[in-house]
Parts: sequence; structure tokens; C-alpha cells
Amino acid sequence: MTPEAALDRVVHLLDRAHETTFKPKAFQRARNVVREMDPAELAERAAAGTLTKLAGIGDASARVITEALAGEVPAYLAKLEATTHVPISPEGQRYREGLKGDCHVHSMWSDGGAEIEEMAVTARALGHQYMVLTDHSPRLTIANGLSRERLERQLVDIAALNEIMAPFRILTGMEVDILEDGSLDLDNDLLTRLDVVVASVHSKLRMPQRQMTERMVRAVASPHVDILGHCTGRLIGRRPQSTFDADYVFAACEQFGTAVEINCRPERLDPPRELIDVAIAYDCWFSIDTDAHATGQLEWHPYGCDRAAERQVPIDRIINTLSADDLLAWTANG
Ligand SMILES: [Zn+2]
Ligand SMILES: [Zn+2]
Repeated sequence: MTPEAALDRVVHLLDRAHETTFKPKAFQRARNVVREMDPAELAERAAAGTLTKLAGIGDASARVITEALAGEVPAYLAKLEATTHVPISPEGQRYREGLKGDCHVHSMWSDGGAEIEEMAVTARALGHQYMVLTDHSPRLTIANGLSRERLERQLVDIAALNEIMAPFRILTGMEVDILEDGSLDLDNDLLTRLDVVVASVHSKLRMPQRQMTERMVRAVASPHVDILGHCTGRLIGRRPQSTFDADYVFAACEQFGTAVEINCRPERLDPPRELIDVAIAYDCWFSIDTDAHATGQLEWHPYGCDRAAERQVPIDRIINTLSADDLLAWTANG
């Protein structure tokens, strides 16, 4: 294992473990330094013990580099491999095995931590046939939302990546903000060009129930919207769920062919159980998505699969059990 590969894997595993400290970024920085360096100089520095004199390399990353150069599996890496595994129940595993793709994934183009290609390579290694790249829309400036120009450039990049990654497919998309009046934060001509559109509420989450219901129903009814992202906006232990009339919203999802996302992020696990039950009762479609902002987070499907299994979501109503072609046919109809 090369030092670069070892550091890369450390970053992946720290993100898989939802490590929210400085650590993943520190190891990522070290990986970038190593990637740019002449291997001979790296080996010399490792032998002389002067790796930490380099900006971006600390004690922990220096140890990983030195052990990898010695032909060993770095001890820190081995520890992370053993301790950060994401568990899944046998019932959840049945759902996980049915999934062919991930419909909600971010990259460095907005607030993600990895390049599109790194996300795609990881998704493919996890057995997916496709992923939908859904970076944030223009007005979510704190998450570096994409302007029209940047989205158009991203579409060009995705087309080029698809050439080299086939048969794996990166489907185009965006996580579009649902604005306060329920309109969408992207022009219609662009919405039409995207393969899959996730629509989410990220602002004014405490809006009165009636207004929030109207806002969400309007977005869900848009012919461009395919998936309603993390519908309550809750952050477990930090932010309460928004209030809306679930009967209206999920009836609209069923009526207009918009899937209800089961968001796998451990701090979200959105919708909460009782709302999944309501969506099942309305015969809604679902999409079990990681909302990954780093490669390691693409491994978070078990959290959503376990929840889907617990509430007995019908597997044949989960859109990411479809092949890419069937998914595109589904979005064209919805
Ligand atoms: Zn979101
Ligand atoms: Zn997202």
C-alpha cells in the first residue's frame, strides 16, 4: 500500500465514522502533500524522520506514511478498519442488497469534501451501478451552491467522467432549495436538463405549519422534482423537526410521483419513524439516500436500510432499487 493510498483510506474511514473533528481534513491535507511529492524525497524524509517538517504533515500522518513505506499496514489504519465498520441488521441487509444506486450525493463543487470522481469510484466499489450528483443550488451560499455557469461546467465534467467510468454512470442532478413560497431555486431550463432533482427545505424551518405545508406541497407538485429530501429538516439532538401536515404532503408526493427520501445521515435519519408510516400508508415512492459529503459517508446506507426494514417500507416502492435506465424512465413519468 502506498502512503497516498493509506492516507486516502484513513480519510475515508474517519468520514465513515462521522468523525467531526479536524482529523479527516488533516489527513486529507497530508495526502495531498504526499501526492504532489517526489517519492524518493518522501522516502528520504521518512528515513531521516523529517516528514513533520513539511507543512501539512503531523505526527499521526507521518507515522502512517512511514509504516506504509516499510510495507506494513499502518497501525492507525488497521485500528480504523476494525472500529468504524457500519453495522446492518439482517432485515436491513435485504434492502441494502436491493439498492443499485445512491440518489443524493455531494462533491467539492458545493460543500462536499471529495471530487466527483472520488465519490463515483467509491460508489462503484460499493457495488452501485450509478450515483446521482446533487450539489446545492445557487442561493445556498453557505454551502457554496452552484450558479448557472458552474452547473453548466459541472455537466460538461460529468459527461467526460462518464466516458471513462462506463458502465458505471454518474447521473446529473441537484439538491435544489425549496424557497419560502415553495418555488425552486433553479431556472426551469436547467431543471429540465437534469436527470434527477432532489428538492429540500434548508431555510425558515420554523415556519408555521400551514405555510410550511403549502410550501412543500407546491415543490412536491412541480413536474421537475423527483425526490423530497430530508423532509422534516431535523438534526437529532440539535434541531427539532419542522411542522407540516403530513397527510397533505405525502398525498401530494403520491399524486405527483415524487419519492420521499429516507435520509441515511445518522444526525438526520429523516423522516422520523411515524412519518415513514404515514408515507407508506399513502403508497408513496421512497429513495434511500446517503446524502454523502465525503467518500466514507457513501457507506451510510445501512442506517436508512435498517430504518426502512423496521417500518416495512415496500421494497418495490424504492426508486433506487431500479436500474439507471428504469430510474430515468421513472423520473420522466413522475
Ligand atoms: Zn440538504
Ligand atoms: Zn444534501
